[in-house]
Amino acid sequence: MSKTLIVGNWKMNGSLAENAALLQAWVQARAGQSAADVAVCVPSPYLAQAQGLLAGQRIDWGGQDCSAHEAGAYTGEVSAAMLRDLGCRYVIVGHSERRQYHQESDDLVALKAQRALAAGVTPIVCVGETLADREAGRTEFVVKRQLSAVIHAVGHCSSEMVVAYEPVWAIGTGHTATPAQAQAVHAVLRAQLQAATAHAQRNRILYGGSMTAANAAELLAQPDIDGGLIGGASLKADDFLAIVAASPTRA
Ligand code: PEP
Repeated sequence: MSKTLIVGNWKMNGSLAENAALLQAWVQARAGQSAADVAVCVPSPYLAQAQGLLAGQRIDWGGQDCSAHEAGAYTGEVSAAMLRDLGCRYVIVGHSERRQYHQESDDLVALKAQRALAAGVTPIVCVGETLADREAGRTEFVVKRQLSAVIHAVGHCSSEMVVAYEPVWAIGTGHTATPAQAQAVHAVLRAQLQAATAHAQRNRILYGGSMTAANAAELLAQPDIDGGLIGGASLKADDFLAIVAASPTRA
């Protein structure tokens, strides 16, 4: 079984000074030597800074999105190859904020995952239902549809991606899924990956949605929760380090 993976998602937050203080605190606390694998997905302008501060520290860095195109006349876009050039190990694709505010479809997210894999960057593919979906009993249908678009596009590379289950109603709201609710969806996603690839044991499925130091241990103890994607709590060094410290040893 792979190590627990804890990934920070700073979203559109930070400054050179704030980032340096945060990342230096992680390095000083030896977060890279913990029981979990640790990474942070930063805004594109700060990738070079993350690379400078984290290279050699066993903490990975990544982007928060990439283009569905390989290269060319796409003003404002950042390609997966550029992320690779800056040493990124990961890129988040299909975050619910991109699906919601940028109308990203399942097919577009799948193309982005494909581009990332082709460039040698591991996509962290986010799936998750809205509150209305959950209340209508459509959770399983929605997350399976979102994941199946990516599996269909990347085929035999499906085992190379990380999946993040992020119920939309739990992101940034303080309403965390209960460990049982999260585990139930993770088990569905695990089964879907197992049906798609003979190497599904390589896939790590992260939970994201108001994970904090207070609830991390119980969530991360669930059999199909292999780590966390952490938004708000990744912006405070102590909170993030406490989540890393709460990670079970799985290696
Ligand atoms: C996220 O944005 O991926 C996330 C999980 O945010 P938060 O932890 O703030 O809910």
